[in-house]
Amino acid sequence: STAIVWFRRDLRLADNAALDRARKEHDRVVPVFVWDPDAEGAWAPGAASRWWLHHALCHLDQRLGQRDSRLIIASGDTATELERIRRVTGAGAVYWNRLYEPAFVERDRTLKANLRAAGMRAVSCAGALLFEPWEILKPDESPYLVFTPFWKQMQKRWSAPGAFAEPRTLPPPARWPASMPVADLKLPAEDNWAKDFSRRWEPGELPARRRLDTFVAEAVASYEKDRDRPGCHGTSRLSPHLHFGEVSPGQVVRALDESGQLPVGQGRWSFLREIAWREFSAHLLFHHPALPDRPLKAQFEAFPWREKIDYADDLTAWQRGRTGVPMVDAGMRELWQTGWMHNRVRMIVASFLTKNLLIPWTEGARWFWETLVDADLANNTAGWQWTAGCGADAAPYFRVFNPVLQGQKFDPQGHYVRRWCPELAEESDRDLHEPSAGEVEATAAPIVDLKDSRKRALAAYDRIKKT
Ligand code: FAD
Repeated sequence: STAIVWFRRDLRLADNAALDRARKEHDRVVPVFVWDPDAEGAWAPGAASRWWLHHALCHLDQRLGQRDSRLIIASGDTATELERIRRVTGAGAVYWNRLYEPAFVERDRTLKANLRAAGMRAVSCAGALLFEPWEILKPDESPYLVFTPFWKQMQKRWSAPGAFAEPRTLPPPARWPASMPVADLKLPAEDNWAKDFSRRWEPGELPARRRLDTFVAEAVASYEKDRDRPGCHGTSRLSPHLHFGEVSPGQVVRALDESGQLPVGQGRWSFLREIAWREFSAHLLFHHPALPDRPLKAQFEAFPWREKIDYADDLTAWQRGRTGVPMVDAGMRELWQTGWMHNRVRMIVASFLTKNLLIPWTEGARWFWETLVDADLANNTAGWQWTAGCGADAAPYFRVFNPVLQGQKFDPQGHYVRRWCPELAEESDRDLHEPSAGEVEATAAPIVDLKDSRKRALAAYDRIKKT
């Protein structure tokens, strides 16, 4: 018998539950990817993600080719395309790994029911997370809203994640259905600012595993110490690989401890804690599907953000890294030039946008969505709502990051700022993070006064606090 394996954001052959099961239960396998952005509504992949996806699909197709197989690429309505492939191949089953964003949950439920009604087997497996979003619940079975108890519960429920071996061969169907070349999907933007991304990133399963292995061998031991230093390579940069499922969280766990048990050692432990934040964000979005557009804390619906007509120029200055605040500009330029930004700096630029500039967090989330290679609806939404103070377990609103002090603390020698803002390269360490206060005016003054804008943000917050 023949089965379709429908790849989505699990672009790997190793540790792939759906692929493993399909292979064991059927003689022949048809690997399929369907480009169907309409199904994702307002949150179809942004430009940087599309660049990544293009390369990741090429890589997967190549790896399948080494196993007597290939990736069938289709574009359009998923149900229609799967039906077309079923007709040509005679497949009697479709296998996939579950995704948990609201648009997928709904679409996949309908699809599963329709496939079954048409007499097909439809099998969905777990593979994107360590725990299903409904597995870690409070004792009263409601979802968690605070990270620490969620993380404690996760540890209590811990069991070594299952592992699935990579197939050596994948017997092809009697007849291959028609497929498009990946290039015909035209995923990378035509005016491709991302063309230099290939100097920094290598999408695909094998590069993902190499990155994981190198990180564990060379950097995880000092992760705790270095993870907040944007000037050094202290973090794993696995985020796009994890987002596209080129590496599974189970593989990450086993790289930290071969047996898959909770790892020991400070670096490994705090790294796993970040993986748990990824789980927590997915859990939040699953249980609160309106989160990408609505604040979790309802009182923020009435927050007095500035009007677009008033903030449009400031938004552009922020996007282009021309705010005159070195840490913010360095971060926004790193994002534009590499499709990624260090976590500490994401918090700094997000705080600056939402608090100092009083621009709605949704504008920032949307810009990140377009420009991040790791854009992930759960993590991005949680990160923005956390920083803006309107999310679960959020930073208290009144804690406004001071980008100058943050820079002095986390980039004390200015390696990060000097890299992305070469016009400041000659500034002394002392003046680097606040050049307008120094003796030489190397840049324009900040577009907003940090002290005054902080006061304005607190006053805005006072207004909703009373409601
Ligand atoms: P590491 O420190 O090496 O962490 C390992 C992995 O753990 C990451 O790859 C990621 O999968 C996960 N992780 C780490 N920190 C977090 C976190 N705070 N929340 C959830 N998961 C985490 N992460 C995304 O993957 N996609 C996004 O779109 C995204 N948007 C963000 C927006 C804002 C405003 C903020 C403050 C954070 C955002 N993050 C996002 C979380 C975090 O910044 C990135 O996951 C991290 O910087 C990725 O780099 P890394 O792989 O080197 O992380």
